[in-house]
Amino acid sequence: MGNRLTTRWDGRAVADGLLEGARRAIESGVADGGRPPSLVSVHRGEASPFQYYLRQQARASERIGVAFRDETLPPETTSATLRARIAELDRDPSVDAVLLEHPLPPEFGFLSAASTLRLEKDVDGVGAASLGRLVAGQPVHAPAVARGAIVLARHYGTEFLGRNVGVVGRSETVGLPLALLLAARGLGAEATVTVAHSRTRDLAEALRGADVVFSAAGHPGLLDRSNVPEGAAIVDIGLATIPDPGAPSGQRAAGDADAGSLDGWARALTPVPGGVGPMTVAALMENTVQAWALLGRGRPT
Ligand code: NAP
Repeated sequence: MGNRLTTRWDGRAVADGLLEGARRAIESGVADGGRPPSLVSVHRGEASPFQYYLRQQARASERIGVAFRDETLPPETTSATLRARIAELDRDPSVDAVLLEHPLPPEFGFLSAASTLRLEKDVDGVGAASLGRLVAGQPVHAPAVARGAIVLARHYGTEFLGRNVGVVGRSETVGLPLALLLAARGLGAEATVTVAHSRTRDLAEALRGADVVFSAAGHPGLLDRSNVPEGAAIVDIGLATIPDPGAPSGQRAAGDADAGSLDGWARALTPVPGGVGPMTVAALMENTVQAWALLGRGRPT
C-alpha cells in the first residue's frame, strides 16, 4: 500500500494552451474589424488580498490582447455605490466583461451586486441569473475557478460519467457551482457528486469511494491519507498563505492537500501554486473572449 507514482497535473502548461487559443480568437476578431475585448476587474479596499490574482489577470490579458483594467474602489465604498458602479459598467458599451472579486464582507451582498450584470458580461458566472442557468444545465459563462479545475482534470484523461466525485467546500462562488457543473444533466460530466463542508461529520466517510476529489476549503493540510481514498486524484483549489521561515517573504502559498502525505498514495495531485490558479485565469480569459463574441466583438451595432 502507498507505493504508487503520484503524477502532478501541470496547470501552467495546460493554461498556456488555452491562452494561445484565446489569443488567436482575438487576433482574428480584430483583423476582422472588431476592437479587442475589454475586461474590468472590480474590487474593494486598498490592502487587497487579490493583488496576486489581479497581477495574473493583467499579465494574461496583456499576453493575449485583452484590454484589462483593475478598478479598486476605496475601502469606505458602500454597497449602494458598488452596485451603482457595477450597473454603470454593465451599461458601458466599451466594456465586454466584468469580474467582481470575491469575497466581499457579507453586508455587501455579493450576490445582489454580481446580479446587476447582464448574463453576457458576468464572466465569472456568479450572478443570480447565471447561477440559475447553471442549475438548468445551460450556463452562459461557467464560473472560472470551477471550469478551470474541471478542464485540468479532463486534460489528464479523467472520466467523470457516473463516477464518484468529492467536492470539499460549498461556497456560492466555488464549491457549489463546481458541484453543479460536475453533476448537471447535459454538461458532459454527469458525475455522482458528494459535497462536504465544515459541518460534515466524517470527511473520510464522505470521500470514501471518490475517484476524484476537488478541494476548495482554504484549509492547508486538510486532505491527507487519513481521509482521501488511495488512488484518487486530487484537484487542489484551496489557496492560503502559511509561514515558511525558508522563504524570502517568510511565507508561502499552500493548498488544501498535504502533499507529503499524499505522495505515493494519490493517483494525481495538482500543485499549489501552478495547478488550478493558472487554469482559473485562463478560464476567465476564455469567458472574456466569449463575452466579447456574444456582444458583437466591439463592432458598432
Ligand atoms: P469560502 O467561501 O471560505 O468557502 C470555503 C468552504 O470550505 C466552505 O464551504 C466551508 O464550509 C468549507 N470548509 C472550510 N473548512 C473545512 C473543513 N475543515 N472541512 C470541510 N470543509 C471545510 O472560500 P471560497 O471562496 O469557496 O474559496 C475556497 C478556497 O479556494 C480558498 O482557499 C480560496 O483562496 C481558493 N480559491 C482559489 C482559486 C484559484 O484560482 N486557485 C480561486 C478562488 C478561490 P462552510 O460552508 O460550512 O463554512
